[in-house]
Amino acid sequence: MAHILPHGASKSLLTPHELLDWYELSRRDLPWRNPEVTPWQILVSEFMLQQTPVSRVVPIWLDWVARWPTPSATAAAGPGEIVRAWGKLGYPRRAKRLHECATVIARDHDDVVPDDVEVLLTLPGIGAYTARAVACFAYQQAVPVVDTNVRRVVARVVHGRADAASAATVRDHADVAALLPDDDSAHRFSAALMELGATVCTARSPRCGLCPLSVCQWRQAGFPPADGPARKPQGYAGTDRQVRGRLMDVLRANELPVTRAQLDVAWTTDVVQRDRALDSLLADGLVTKTSDGRFALLGEEG
Ligand code: SF4
Repeated sequence: MAHILPHGASKSLLTPHELLDWYELSRRDLPWRNPEVTPWQILVSEFMLQQTPVSRVVPIWLDWVARWPTPSATAAAGPGEIVRAWGKLGYPRRAKRLHECATVIARDHDDVVPDDVEVLLTLPGIGAYTARAVACFAYQQAVPVVDTNVRRVVARVVHGRADAASAATVRDHADVAALLPDDDSAHRFSAALMELGATVCTARSPRCGLCPLSVCQWRQAGFPPADGPARKPQGYAGTDRQVRGRLMDVLRANELPVTRAQLDVAWTTDVVQRDRALDSLLADGLVTKTSDGRFALLGEEG
């Protein structure tokens, strides 16, 4: 059970300059942190980084923003082209949602990404995390940006727990908001907190010897183990997600619609699972069936 700290107490636990000084020296040189990158290109990076590691995102993002630098350029591309360019980032529904998001921004917002969290939340594919990440990283706003890494750091530093609760709660935003400095460094503080969780205060092996924070409740309590059963790492092999990925590989590798037989050889282990995966791709609108019974990426049915 998390202990509730008195108002303002969490701020005194986490000294902003310790984190900010460390961030200036140690942050990763990621291409979307270049000052010339536009809010749209930052938004694209946030779509891609949901559930995909940085190392896989970097090459795809670089190609993507060179090819489609603005929302209108993205909206003008065919949805099949977009899904194809998404490559093996996984969870291709994100590509479709990004295309929809680009279309709405180009049509309704003069091709400019909104800077207001409430407006961002109305856009396709943008949830609580992404809206605040765009407001913070693209528009330097003092908003709490709360991802899994941030939740874990706050659980350790502030609450003395090994990890955050498995599901995000409204309280997480309040926790992080309470930590933000009251000056114009708040957006960098948010980015630094996330960076600390991604590179030093990692889930399985926190590198406390490299940690810039002089106070951490979890460390001071002697690293008590997490309550309850350990979280199982998410597997991939044999999942429907893997089967969907194999079917998408076949579709991306072919310029023309493919036959059912071409898809069938992509996964022969379990035909029921293969059918289910194909049905789900059709239901998600990522794949369409042609009038002669073949299959194509959305928009490429000829
Ligand atoms: S001291 Fe260790 S556990 Fe605490 S915030 Fe730093 S890296 Fe994480």
